[in-house]
Order: sequence, then C-alpha cells, then structure tokens
Amino acid sequence: MAEVTAQMAIERRSKPLSLEANFAELKRRLSEIYDLNAAKAVLTWDEATYMPRGGAVARGRQAALLKRLEHERAVDPALGRLIDLLEPQADKLSAAAASLLRIARRDFERAIKVPAEYVARVNAHSSASYNAWVLARPANDFATMAPFLEKTLELSREYAAFFTPYEHIADPMIDEADEGMTAAKLQCLFAALRDELTPLVRAICAQPPADDACLRRAFGEAEQIGFGLSIAAQMGYDLERGRLDKTRHPFCTRFAKGDVRITTRVNADHIGDALFSTVHEAGHAMYEQGVDPAFEGTPLGKGILSGMHESQSRLWENLVARSRPFWEHYYPRLQETFPGQLAAEPLESFYSAINKVEPSLIRTDADEVTYNIHVMLRVDLELKLLEGTLRVKDLPEAWRAGMQADIGVAPSDDRDGCLQDVHWFFDRIGGEFQGYTIGNILSAQFFAAATKANPDIASEIARGRFDALLGWLTDNIYRHGRALKPDEIVMRATGSPMTMAPYLAYLRTKYGELYRLPAH
Ligand code: ZN
Repeated sequence: MAEVTAQMAIERRSKPLSLEANFAELKRRLSEIYDLNAAKAVLTWDEATYMPRGGAVARGRQAALLKRLEHERAVDPALGRLIDLLEPQADKLSAAAASLLRIARRDFERAIKVPAEYVARVNAHSSASYNAWVLARPANDFATMAPFLEKTLELSREYAAFFTPYEHIADPMIDEADEGMTAAKLQCLFAALRDELTPLVRAICAQPPADDACLRRAFGEAEQIGFGLSIAAQMGYDLERGRLDKTRHPFCTRFAKGDVRITTRVNADHIGDALFSTVHEAGHAMYEQGVDPAFEGTPLGKGILSGMHESQSRLWENLVARSRPFWEHYYPRLQETFPGQLAAEPLESFYSAINKVEPSLIRTDADEVTYNIHVMLRVDLELKLLEGTLRVKDLPEAWRAGMQADIGVAPSDDRDGCLQDVHWFFDRIGGEFQGYTIGNILSAQFFAAATKANPDIASEIARGRFDALLGWLTDNIYRHGRALKPDEIVMRATGSPMTMAPYLAYLRTKYGELYRLPAH
C-alpha cells in the first residue's frame, strides 16, 4: 500500500505543472526569502534602537541564523529549476511577471556564484575588522587596521573572481550596487564632474564664508524630533505605515509595504543634524512606501539600490528641504518652535547657513558641493587598491594628497583621513561609494523633469504642499519598485540617460546666487 502511494506521488510530481502553478510556486519561494530578510531587518532595527547592550550576543546569533536560512532558500537548486522552467515561457507572462522572473534570475545567479564557505569567511572577517576599527579610529591607529584592510582587499578580489569575466575588477561590486554601471563609465563621469566642481568650489571659497552660528545653539531634543517628523509627514511620509525612532547612525528600513521605518539622531547643539537626516531618511521611506502594493512579498517590492535610492533621499533633503521656497513656508514655523534661538534671525541668514559651502575633512559633514569630491576621492582610491596600483600601506598618504589636490585641505591624522568611513572596514572594497554621487546627479535630473511636467511645484513647495512632486515621483519612479532597470527608469522619467547637466545647473544657480558668483 505504502509503495503504491509513493508511486502515485512520484507520478503526480513528475506531471508538468501549468505555467500558473509554476509561477505561483516561484512567488511562494520568493516570498519566504522576502520574509526571512524582513524578519532579520526587524532584529537589526531593534538592535540599533531599543535593544539593551546585554542582548548583543544572542542577537548576533539570531540574525546569523536568519541570514543563513535566507541564503539557503536563495540558492536552493529547486528555485533555479523553476526559473529555468519559466524563462522559455516569459513571453506568455504579464510585463510585471516577466520583470519578476528577470530579477529572480539576477538575484539567483548572484547568490549561487558565491560559495557559502566564502560568505562565512567574509562575515567572520567583517565583524573582526569592524570591532578593531571601532577602537582604532579614535586612537588614530592605521597600523592596526592595515592588515585587516589587506585581508578585505584580498576577499574583495576573491569576490570579483566569482563573476569573471569582467572588464575591471571593481565591476562586479559596482554592478551589484548600481546595476548597469561599470568602473569605466564611473571614471569618465567622475572626471567630467570633478573638472566642473573644483573651479566652482574654488570660486565659492574665494568669497566671504557664510555664517552658520544660528544653527549652533542649544535646541531641545523633543522639539527637534517633533519638527522634523512633522515636515516628513507633510512631505508625504505616511505615519500609518511608518515611524521614527532615535539611533546613532540614521537609516531607513522596510519590513513590509505597511511598515517602513526611519531613524534619526539628535545633536542638541546643532539643529541641522536631526532635521536633515530625518528628511533624508523620509525620502528613502517615501520611495519604499510608494512601490506598487501588488509587488509586495516579491523581490520587485522594494526600491532600487543604491544611486537610485540615494537620488530620492537627496532630492527631498537638498532640492526640497534646503531650498528657499521651502523655508519661505517653514522658517516662520521653525522660529515659532525655537523662538529663543531663531526669532531674531532673518530667513536669509538661516537659508545661507544651511547651505554653507566649506572645504572640510569629513565626508558625512560636507556640504552639497564639496560632498561629491569626497566621494570621488574614495572611488578613485578603491579602484586603485583593487587594481593593485595603490598599496594599502600607501593609502594614508594617497588620501592626504587627494584631499589637498581636490578640496584644498588635508587631514593631519588618519582618524580624519582614511579611517573615517566605516565602509572599507566593514564591507568590501569596491562599489561602496559611487551611489552617493550618482544619487546627487539623478536627484537634480528627476527634479528638473518633475518641475518641467508640473511648473507649479516650486510655488506649491512655498505653500508647504508636495502633492504634485510626490505624485510625479510615485508615478515615474516609486511605483515601479525593482520592475524596471535603473537606466530604464531614468530614460522614461526624464527622456534622457543619466546626465549631470541638470545637477551642475542646479548647483551653479543656487550657489552662484548665494555666493554672488559671476554668471557662468
Ligand atoms: Zn541615504
């Protein structure tokens, strides 16, 4: 009897399933991966917000387990067979289903090329390196970090080798972060951008510096958080499907379409920190909240990393929340919230304070104009390290020389030099930084296209209204999730491939006026 049942089960299994049944099975498998990923994100969010320190060890173990389960499902040969089965029939699927299949293939191929044994080695090294960096940076101790960095470089090269053939050794890492981008394209783009930005920075620095003392006063924490959150909500961050909490390093995280959270940090002596980081993270969150709900639980149901996502946080942070029309509406409200600190401060001086340009040592504190120069220096050094044309031991000096040449200031120590960013000490070398500048370039390109389609956007912003802008961004970018490639989104939304012309025009107009520069 048992044998007969087993035989029947085999026959039933081997009978080819319909296209619909196979597709449903694909979605079921992908949704498990999505949920395991989201469950791990909840643990990470909790760790960064409320977890008592005593929870660290158990939390690390629990997160590692979820990560392993997710990886096992992501590389399951049965998932690969399903994708193989469905691909020849892709033309019978809807456009969304075909996109899902394309992304499932991309994610699967990436996952299976990287052996589990390598992932385990990288994870162990990353946490050891990160723990060493936490102590070495304040101690200005590059010597301790150099062997870690050597090992990270070796692991990054090993990672690239899983994806041969490639043109440049950084290409697999860059493409993973920004699909379609390569080292060659980046070098070309960045060389042109550097040529335009360095004279602009020089011209600005030849002018009297802006006074930003009005930002550096004592501002109550609860008022800062409340003001930032009310702005985020008015912009369109839906608090029925989101929330804001405090953390050390602000981030946005998505658990589901109905739960996209942001975090912020508060500096009691500087009003800019919490305000702009809240708006920045809300920009990421509005992108996630705007994804077509039909994609929920699939790999399409998220925004595109990394430059595309960054373009949205920066669009809201810089093009909207550092603009004059925005503060024409909100500055009186900010003054009401902080009368003791700002009542006597005119709008113009506040506006020039939040847009102060100044060569500085630290990327995360840099202004809109010099920020990209910091990023380009890192990308440049990353590529050279991977190529083998720069040795780890020469990194501190190369960093200082690059800073001096491009920004005009050089750090006196490594703490404010090559030890300042966590990226290389926690993750791979390569693909880590370019997204910030791609995001800046795209933010202006999207904003220009939105304003062209809806010329009232600026006057709406001046009235504290964001419907037209958010509507355009949702229609043209957010709702697509990962269904379109980044290039396709840019092309469809703006009518042209990525171009830095709108970004340069934006910077020249805004800072030309602020610093009274001669017209370009
Ligand atoms: Zn961001």
